[in-house]
Amino acid sequence: MDRELKWIGQSIEQLAETGKKDGAYWRASYTPEDHRGAALLQQWMEDAGFQTYFDAVGNLYGRMEGTSDAVILTGSHRDTVANGGKYDGALGIITAIAAGSALYRTYGKPQKTLEVVALCEEEGSRFLSGYIGSRAIIGALSPADLQEVDEDGISLQTAMQTCGYYDGVLPKPREDVEQFLELHIEQGGILEKNGIHVGIVTAMVGLLIGDIVFHGAQNHAGTTPMDLRCDPVPAAASFVNTLHQWAMSKGHNLVCTVGNITASPGKSNVIANHVRLTFDIRAGRQSLLDEAKETIAFLLKKFAAYTPQVTYACQETPVPMDQEGVQHLETLADKQGAAYMRLASGAGHDAQIIGQRIKTNMIFVPSKNGVSHSPDEFTALEDIAAGYQLLKAYLKESAWRRKEADDGR
Ligand SMILES: [Zn+2]
Repeated sequence: MDRELKWIGQSIEQLAETGKKDGAYWRASYTPEDHRGAALLQQWMEDAGFQTYFDAVGNLYGRMEGTSDAVILTGSHRDTVANGGKYDGALGIITAIAAGSALYRTYGKPQKTLEVVALCEEEGSRFLSGYIGSRAIIGALSPADLQEVDEDGISLQTAMQTCGYYDGVLPKPREDVEQFLELHIEQGGILEKNGIHVGIVTAMVGLLIGDIVFHGAQNHAGTTPMDLRCDPVPAAASFVNTLHQWAMSKGHNLVCTVGNITASPGKSNVIANHVRLTFDIRAGRQSLLDEAKETIAFLLKKFAAYTPQVTYACQETPVPMDQEGVQHLETLADKQGAAYMRLASGAGHDAQIIGQRIKTNMIFVPSKNGVSHSPDEFTALEDIAAGYQLLKAYLKESAWRRKEADDGR
């Protein structure tokens, strides 16, 4: 176990070096940095006993043939954001290789086929829509999607062709994959704050994004008495405060952000004509998002004098993780004596795409100070250990069909 962790630590550093560009880390998809990273991962997969291949969008797979055709898939994405860190994505691939390798050394060939995957373009740091690799896996990437262009006007199709991945035919949806498991850094501070080493993800949060406009009567700030005003600014402020209080009452189950408030015309000596504010509400349960909508509607009735108008720009339902898998992970974590908790993921992950078609689960490990998408991203090896052990135990049971208790590890 110590040797495996040491290898994981060294590999994180080595893989990070492949993404170094102008003194920062940025392994954007279909670039020389990505090519170097993929080559290193491919080498590690082969050293560990996996047979490697790329699909037509550039996902790198390592395959360990089992006695049945059903595939257990595990891994994460190999791209990073611009000026990103060493752990986001990378850790899920490296721990998957380490776990598969250790299990193979101990037990030989798995019963179900194990594949590790280094997915491409999850972050959208080059092609904005992102999740290219995972969308391809479930058949949700169309030829029209390949016409998306990057900042330099290069299309996704051209980028994939230049790397030698795409030859005019998109990969077929993976019907053979029975389960997908992704280990990832939490990218938040809940685990660290609670002194817990493992997060078992229950759902990818759904969201409600939109804006509200409060209307008033524009007038002179000096000559209009307070009782004769229709000022939308205090109304909007009161609304924001009440919505915030409501969100606070939901504990860790929901987050709510008013990120932008604009008063128009926005002059210090003019009572505003209208105020526009944005909202971004996320939760792991649809019932909470429904309650958020009801709360907004209820509050807006209270401010009817300002004829508020709400527009929902984006509404996404939460993607639940496989509940059987959640319970299975909890049982294993209990056996291992690991401190764990259930939590919803506030960030987007490949697991939310793959989870739309395939039984999917996620394991989180703590992020130091909750920081991610930054060169300061860090998770100490002792904070990786419990999550890694859980990933390995899960693969041992699902692919090798060996119970944790069988050989009293
Ligand atoms: Zn990630």
